[in-house]
Amino acid sequence: MTRYFWQWLILIISAGFSCIMLHGKSINNEINYYELSLELIRSIIWLFMMFYISYTRHNRQIYLWLLIGCGSLFIGNNMNILDELSTFEASYYQEVEDLLFTFGILCAWFGLYQLIQQQITKNQILNIAANTDPLTGLLNRRSFNQNVENSTDNNPSAYLILDIDHFKQINDTYGHAAGDYVLTKLAKHISKSLRKQDRVARWGGEEFLIELKHCDSHTAQLKAEQLRTLIERSDFHYSGQYLSITVSIGIATVANQHLNRDEIINLADKALYQAKNGGRNRVVLASDLNQNE
Ligand code: GH3
Ligand code: MG
Ligand code: MG
Repeated sequence: MTRYFWQWLILIISAGFSCIMLHGKSINNEINYYELSLELIRSIIWLFMMFYISYTRHNRQIYLWLLIGCGSLFIGNNMNILDELSTFEASYYQEVEDLLFTFGILCAWFGLYQLIQQQITKNQILNIAANTDPLTGLLNRRSFNQNVENSTDNNPSAYLILDIDHFKQINDTYGHAAGDYVLTKLAKHISKSLRKQDRVARWGGEEFLIELKHCDSHTAQLKAEQLRTLIERSDFHYSGQYLSITVSIGIATVANQHLNRDEIINLADKALYQAKNGGRNRVVLASDLNQNE
């Protein structure tokens, strides 16, 4: 069956019907050309729509409603044109015309409603896919950066970069699936330990960025230490194996620093580097780092 089979069928039936109806009838002497041209425009629109909606054919239900709707409106409108060209006495003619219009509008409306609902659902799915990390369900880096509020001194935030220690060894020893399990479980631990206003994103492979709102460096350090010990003491069981997981955390805070967010995260990254160099499984604050340098 060709792509536009039903459209051509409706067109042929409508043309055939027009020929039969006009055959042997005298043309109306008082044609209202203004009305006629409006009806012609409407017919062209419905004809165009009938073909255009074929892009929805992958969803048979929506396609069918739209096709029946546009087809009925097209046929109904053509009957209107015939009515204008020639005068039909039969009383049922007007009734059929009205019926086709009402039926067509109902079907087209229903099809359109379903199409819009489908688009809304699709958009929601796409939005989630674009903004979240598929493995952990956390925000991804792009989404975290998009929703950033410019940090100011009266809204001090702390940024923590958390990195799993020797994660490559977990993958190498227990397999990639075990590594994925650790990432997922760790993401849950972090999310649970945060307040409503805080945010966490999967920043890289086994790196997480945490934003603690309205948090000075002392509190940030306490929270980071709590998180580190929570992870160290948590059970990571995978396929009957006990995996020992520790993390290193670098912290930088916004307060009293005239740096933009990227520069602050950079500082946290440097602090993380120092935590790794210091032996891992520890927390380092960027201000300590400055003093050491
Ligand atoms: P360090 O303590 O210095 O951080 O060492 P590390 O082994 O944790 O760091 P390294 O950068 O050497 O290795 C990171 C590993 O993380 C390498 C990569 O294969 C793994 N990784 C990145 N993304 C994923 C992921 O989505 N799933 C799994 N299973 N592994 C991942
Ligand atoms: Mg690591
Ligand atoms: Mg890393």
